[in-house]
Amino acid sequence: MADDILHGLIFVAGVVAPLALPLLFFGALERLVPAGPLKSARGWWLNLRLMVVYLAVPTVLAVAIKYLVSEAGTLSGGGLVDLLPWISISGVLGVIAGCLIYLLVWDFFYYWWHRAQHQFPALWRMHSLHHMDETLGVSANMRVHWLEEIGRTVVMFMPMAFLFNLPVATGVVAIALTFWGAFIHSNLRLHLGPMSAVIAGPQVHRVHHSRLDQHHDRNFAAFFPVWDLVFGTYHHPARDEFPPTGVEGMEEVGSVWEAIVHPFRGRRFRAPTE
Ligand SMILES: [Zn+2]
Ligand SMILES: [Zn+2]
Repeated sequence: MADDILHGLIFVAGVVAPLALPLLFFGALERLVPAGPLKSARGWWLNLRLMVVYLAVPTVLAVAIKYLVSEAGTLSGGGLVDLLPWISISGVLGVIAGCLIYLLVWDFFYYWWHRAQHQFPALWRMHSLHHMDETLGVSANMRVHWLEEIGRTVVMFMPMAFLFNLPVATGVVAIALTFWGAFIHSNLRLHLGPMSAVIAGPQVHRVHHSRLDQHHDRNFAAFFPVWDLVFGTYHHPARDEFPPTGVEGMEEVGSVWEAIVHPFRGRRFRAPTE
């Protein structure tokens, strides 16, 4: 019995800690060096509940998602391109190289999925929930509409499994995704200089969330702005460029329910490419 409780606590800590620690860490930093207005307690409460709704969907659909992704891999005989030799370098360097390659490929697919979300009105209706946050901060990282994970499975994870033998989706990558997502959404006055073009930081992603016209449809990549550079959507932020965030002409949702049904309602919205 005591063992069961201990195992239960370890499991909960293993799931909750990677989510809670970045929120606490970057949430504390935001109070020290904010780039814009800080989020109210009410705003935090809304975003945390939206995070739970968002995380519930892949958890409930985990078996189906895993099945679809592995079927896509089986169809191509385990992936058309074998990236395993790169990942099989032994030691820490091999792990780092493997994770970087995985994240670079992940980010390529994410770039195009994300760009489509801004291009097509039906996808923008979902994604705009993420962009409506006017006090952008770490809690917005998983303020994502619950339907998005289904889209990502079909548009990102299935093609990735079909094309690449990339069995490195380990805990390291999952933690990197959670941590980096939290970092780039943080409300931090942090200018990375020329490094902004190499790794996406909070300023580069704040430009993506900007409500100013000159920033629309810029900086889609989550990790490596090289994809924005290659496909012509990169905006390099100036030292003091920390624009206001949100979506012009779109009102913030007032409750979790409003967020859940947001894409299906006749709310006023404007496609960002208009
Ligand atoms: Zn976006
Ligand atoms: Zn974002």
